[in-house]
Amino acid sequence: MTILVIAEHDQNALKRATYHTVTAAASMSSDVDLLVFNPQVSTEAAKISGIKHVLVVDEKNYAHQLAENVAPLVSELAKQYTHVLAPATTFGKNILPRAAALTDMAMISDVIKIISPDTFLRPIYAGNALATVQSHEAIQFLTVRSTGFAAATQNQSATAEIKALDILIPNTLSQFEGEEIHISARPELTAARIIVAGGRGLKSLENFKLLEKLADTLGAALGASRAAVDAGFAPNDYQVGQTGKVVAPDLYIAIGISGAIQHLAGMKDSKVIVAINNDPDAPIFQVADYGLVADLFTSLQELQLELDKR
Ligand SMILES: Cc1cc2nc3c(=O)[nH]c(=O)nc-3n(C[C@H](O)[C@H](O)[C@H](O)COP(=O)(O)OP(=O)(O)OC[C@H]3O[C@@H](n4cnc5c(N)ncnc54)[C@H](O)[C@@H]3O)c2cc1C
Repeated sequence: MTILVIAEHDQNALKRATYHTVTAAASMSSDVDLLVFNPQVSTEAAKISGIKHVLVVDEKNYAHQLAENVAPLVSELAKQYTHVLAPATTFGKNILPRAAALTDMAMISDVIKIISPDTFLRPIYAGNALATVQSHEAIQFLTVRSTGFAAATQNQSATAEIKALDILIPNTLSQFEGEEIHISARPELTAARIIVAGGRGLKSLENFKLLEKLADTLGAALGASRAAVDAGFAPNDYQVGQTGKVVAPDLYIAIGISGAIQHLAGMKDSKVIVAINNDPDAPIFQVADYGLVADLFTSLQELQLELDKR
């Protein structure tokens, strides 16, 4: 079995989701190659345990990892592999279905467990049921949920071979024009150990900002329910849930969030869940390890006062 993992990275470093995807690949085979699109990240990539080759494509065409450009490349490379894996993030979900379709193979998304090299576990119905899926395709295309696999480790003595690939599949239909990157000093939502998430209960953009101080005191990332995002309290990339990000931090603090199943689908695997809500019947309390039935504005003030004393 030979496995290709598509790395998600920016211009300087690999994203954490790549490390989790490598673990999924390495659980099936010791023959795992990692595809990167920038030589800058190849040294970091070569030190990940479980990688045999780092394949580097240093072409302007792929530098911004546009799905329209990368998918034909992945489809071409896939012919040498039994499995192609990518993180189940916006990045992987954009590229892998296209690459699978171009290769004329079915794909399996959101894998949370590898049962055998052709059988996988994945959540369905917003995480309310788990499906065991077997596929007899010659090449298995899989997106992998980070929450299902530990991160692969960096091993300073690991020396995966770095191979430059000289391959370019031209695309004249679309090209990279520019990007606006939201820069934050806080940890990235999917990699954060602690998340403070707010919902419609906060009632306004100004009130949502009250969560920032708490998040900064705890070194946490900020998250939000879809209702909070739709109401304009928080940016779109804060959204946790079925149509947002799937997270599993050590601590998830849900403030003014009712706990609709679409929200739970994105956070119920968190290790410890704390909920603050003034409705004792809010469904969030069914998954919470610690629940506080109280007014969130009073509780936030009291919590901050206690934290400030430390
Ligand atoms: C196809 C589909 C996909 C979806 N995807 C997502 C998704 O990815 N993520 C997501 O979050 N939602 C998603 N939703 C929406 C979801 O169904 C809910 O509408 C949403 O999660 C509700 O957000 P909320 O809990 O912030 O708001 P509400 O349900 O309105 O809850 C607000 C809560 O705040 C509490 N509250 C109010 N005032 C106070 C106060 N002063 N003190 C304490 N508590 C207070 C209330 O008791 C209430 O429980 C999706 C829906 C659909 C149909």
